[in-house]
Amino acid sequence: MKINEIFKSIQGETSYAGLPCTFIRITGCNLRCNYCDTIYAYEEGTEMSIDSILENIDSFKSRLVCVTGGEPLSDKDAPSLVKKLLNKNYTVLVETNGSYDIGSIPQKAVKIMDIKCPDSNMSRLMHWQNINHLTKLDEVKFIISSRRDYEWAKEIIRKYGLSEITNVLIGTAFGTISSRTVVQWILEDNLDVRFQLQLHKYIWEPQTKGV
Ligand code: SF4
Repeated sequence: MKINEIFKSIQGETSYAGLPCTFIRITGCNLRCNYCDTIYAYEEGTEMSIDSILENIDSFKSRLVCVTGGEPLSDKDAPSLVKKLLNKNYTVLVETNGSYDIGSIPQKAVKIMDIKCPDSNMSRLMHWQNINHLTKLDEVKFIISSRRDYEWAKEIIRKYGLSEITNVLIGTAFGTISSRTVVQWILEDNLDVRFQLQLHKYIWEPQTKGV
């Protein structure tokens, strides 16, 4: 597999935010979101066998592992890697952009799936059937850049009954709309969602890699 980086940090997002976590960033992504902060993961990376990835992960001694990218499912071997991590009793989060069929991700992994809003310019590429694979173990994430994105997300949450199916996260694209504004909208609308900040961008400089 082509791996961009493996590092230990705290999980900056999702309902696992704040927990120590080892990250495996797989090289490659089929999307090009307007606000992408991991452009360096599109091409750069080193070939590693699954066994050497597992050895590397063991050395960090964290029970929580996040498989991310780029887009992990752009690598056909990602589901096997996730399965082997689960077999070693890691809690495994898989962050995916929502454009691939997530049915290949093992059931016991926690799927953290983006639903790309219009301002990302990628919403037309969502694989909507993925919603059928989501459970209460999983999370969907909307990244908002504008009022238009917020209204769109609200409509998608309503249309698919997402809050009943899974955990719904709303965050902002860094440097676009103010978090306070989006939180006010959520409160006014009584949305059954969790607002999230990208914690790592407040702890370290926003452009820092490997955190
Ligand atoms: S899916 Fe993620 S890695 Fe791919 S372009 Fe969008 S933000 Fe960047």
